[in-house]
Amino acid sequence: MEIEKKDIRSLTKQQLRDFFVANGDKAFRGNQVYEWLWSKASHNFDDMTNVSKETRAMLEKNFVINHIKVDTLQRSEDGTVKNAVRLHDGLIVESVLIPTETRTTACVSSQVGCSLDCNFCATARLKRMRNLEPGEIYDQVVAIDKESRLYYGHPLSNIVFMGMGEPLMNYNNVMKAIDMITSEEGLGMSPKRITVSTSGVSKMIKKMADDEVKFKLAVSLHSAIEATRNRIMPFTKNFPLTELREALEYWYRKTKSKVTYEYVVWKGINDDKASIDALVKFCKYVPCKVNLIEYNPIDDGEFQQASDEAIDNYIKALERHDIVAKVRRSRGKDIDAACGQLANKS
Ligand code: SAH
Repeated sequence: MEIEKKDIRSLTKQQLRDFFVANGDKAFRGNQVYEWLWSKASHNFDDMTNVSKETRAMLEKNFVINHIKVDTLQRSEDGTVKNAVRLHDGLIVESVLIPTETRTTACVSSQVGCSLDCNFCATARLKRMRNLEPGEIYDQVVAIDKESRLYYGHPLSNIVFMGMGEPLMNYNNVMKAIDMITSEEGLGMSPKRITVSTSGVSKMIKKMADDEVKFKLAVSLHSAIEATRNRIMPFTKNFPLTELREALEYWYRKTKSKVTYEYVVWKGINDDKASIDALVKFCKYVPCKVNLIEYNPIDDGEFQQASDEAIDNYIKALERHDIVAKVRRSRGKDIDAACGQLANKS
């Protein structure tokens, strides 16, 4: 019977060192292989030319490298690139490269499908099939970094966990991936250039604060009125706004890091004065800024982008209270790469 081989990237550096010692080799061999796996992002034991052929064959016999493969790549007329990424078990997730004049942002996925059920989001309809492994998250970043260099002549500068899935429902793997992305033994990126976005899983926001993470936090708020939020994001019935508020206060006390609220304004849902007042009030709890995101229709009809006037009312009210607010135009709409559109259509 064939035993399923272990994914070598699930081993820590120490475990890899121990493996070599247990097999009569030097611990140092573990360091070499670890470097190939992470900082060189190698997907093939045969690449590892500074270890002997026998060692490579031995690794091949014992392990696999469960890596991703960019299956299809679509380029938007605005320069956005969407990767459909095939995982080792055939499942597909999507990641997006968003270029601006000065930087490139990678929008990466954390789950296949999503644990949550936001009514306005295409990914929510896929349901969660599984969590991504740290290596699978890491690989998305590496792939987009390569594309950024190829198409735009500079490396990737920022990462947002705003692709498919709820990152805080795959906490350990997301944290491990970020550790490797920021470690000198991995990609050596600054955590300040990474944003993790959550729909508001309060317990895990507190856990992040306890873990003293150094990246930024964004919260998909969309309404600061409980009943409205419960209606458009049904799972929030288990995550009341009072708990969210408390978690964010805890986050800020521990990290001193501002929170970004993502907020879509919809016709007849949250384009009224009461919604604006509730948001302004919510914004007073911790230092924050608000990104008003353009709605990307997911062919439903229930949700429609609010009028420019309604958006203006939000901006004015927030500015009156000295809250920084920006309107974010969506990118990559023509290739279904914009917020909430990731749904493996192709
Ligand atoms: N689950 C995490 C990570 C996904 S981020 C979270 O919810 O924060 C994706 C962002 O796009 C979220 O802010 C989400 O609320 C927003 N979004 C979802 N569907 C959208 C749509 N159709 N148009 C615009 N934004 C959308």
